[in-house]
Amino acid sequence: MNLLKEKILEAGRVEAGEVLKVDSFLNHQLDIELLNEIGKEFKKRFNNKNITKILTAEVSGIAIAAITAQYFNVPVIFAKKTESKNLDNETYEGEVYSYTKDKHYKIRVSKRYISQEDHLLIIDDFLANGQALLGLKQIVDEAKANLVGAGIVIEKGFQKGRKLAEEANINVESLAIIREMQEEKIVFED
Ligand code: 5GP
Repeated sequence: MNLLKEKILEAGRVEAGEVLKVDSFLNHQLDIELLNEIGKEFKKRFNNKNITKILTAEVSGIAIAAITAQYFNVPVIFAKKTESKNLDNETYEGEVYSYTKDKHYKIRVSKRYISQEDHLLIIDDFLANGQALLGLKQIVDEAKANLVGAGIVIEKGFQKGRKLAEEANINVESLAIIREMQEEKIVFED
């Protein structure tokens, strides 16, 4: 998706530890015009699929998922990272390992919101080492629902997320795939 790649080149910042900062349009300030185009592109890529709900993880996936959902006319469920009194006791759980924090944490969705009849599309901002994606898939599997695929805004193709997703049979569509990145240079896959 050229518009997105141009935005990454213009406003993305490569930081230590192979982290791409996109706070000015995706992770902090939100470029709604761009998000609308991202939503349309996901709709195009998953257009022939029967999708009943979109699933993401809080916090950074929510805005992208919400805008994308408008093109599919379906609800968004976001998995919660914190245990809270507001969350139902009956939940589906996924386990996520964070490389940056070197710890495992749980993500949860109330059993009320996913049923066996659901066809879910996962939407997330980044695919890096694939741990968030696998945690979300665990929730879909536990609910015995159907995972249609995963729409990713930015994939860091040099990390192992793609391989793990393929091994788990997840149909991943990424709108920008970064082949390599250094401080002053970001190279995309074609
Ligand atoms: P994973 O390694 O599980 O694929 O990525 C986990 C989460 O970490 C992603 O959903 C994303 O929110 C965040 N993340 C991973 N790599 C980057 C990065 O380079 N930049 C930013 N801004 N977030 C990232």
